[in-house]
Amino acid sequence: MGQSSRRRTHSLVLLAPALLGLLLFALFASTARSDDAAPAAPVACEPSECTTPLVTPILEIPGDSADPADRDWTPPVGGETPGADVPKFAPSPSPGADAEPSTTPAPPGDFDIYIPEIASDKPVPTPTPTPTPRPGPVIYLTFDDGPHPTWTPRVLEVLERYAAYATFFTLGTNVDAYPWIAADIVAAGHAVANHSYTHANLALLGRAGVESELVRTQSAIASATERSATCLRPPFGSVSGTVTSVADSLGLDTWLWDVDPQDWARPGAWTIANRIISVARPTAVVLLHDGGGNRSQTVEALEIVLAELSARGYRFETLPC
Ligand SMILES: [Zn+2]
Repeated sequence: MGQSSRRRTHSLVLLAPALLGLLLFALFASTARSDDAAPAAPVACEPSECTTPLVTPILEIPGDSADPADRDWTPPVGGETPGADVPKFAPSPSPGADAEPSTTPAPPGDFDIYIPEIASDKPVPTPTPTPTPRPGPVIYLTFDDGPHPTWTPRVLEVLERYAAYATFFTLGTNVDAYPWIAADIVAAGHAVANHSYTHANLALLGRAGVESELVRTQSAIASATERSATCLRPPFGSVSGTVTSVADSLGLDTWLWDVDPQDWARPGAWTIANRIISVARPTAVVLLHDGGGNRSQTVEALEIVLAELSARGYRFETLPC
């Protein structure tokens, strides 16, 4: 009750100046009609009373055209779900819509009460973009020559931040040296795979030699992770009939790669990242290294690659073997 009576007195208070304004306007209109050419209004009323409420909000709010100002209006919505249309890696020549001017219509002085009423008359556009959950294309990131006590945990940390999963082609010697890191890899949802025991060129070995390299690594992985590896990547991508035969007998699926950014040569993080991003395509297998040397550039490049390719809608999964 108190509320409604307050509202009534409120509207009376509002009505009085409105009527006064109307009176003045009628008076003014009758005089102004006689000379159409004269820009009349400025003298007729106080700026806070007659300029704002009826004109500005109506004209400014509905701006749903492809006006740059409207772009400033929408980003917060799209910005929450990284869309494939946001080119972060190759920043497009932005038209300079840098969002300093606030597009919100300025509050019209003393007539703050009119705003909600006028706003409620609006068609209520509220462009709610439906957040379409994209299944997205897949990229297979792989890391060879680990596990390494420095670089593997850093790789794992970056992968986790992007909810990305990868396959680690480990050396049996390193798994025996750092079994807890191999276990961490598996615990984080990634796959630990076989990359031989000593990084030998398997194609140059006889059957016994190949078996030794692969079986010892299988054992190391099994005891560290309680999982049996099912993927093999022969060092140097060097395959022979014997390698394939032994791999088959051990239930190992041989995988090489599609994209080799040569991160091991340390050409610079951006170069590594660029070499991956520029050729990225669905189901590509990317060769990287978390062992065998200083891999700080690989870690840095990984961050760039994941940010960009995630924004393009890619997912990162373990190899299907
Ligand atoms: Zn290797």
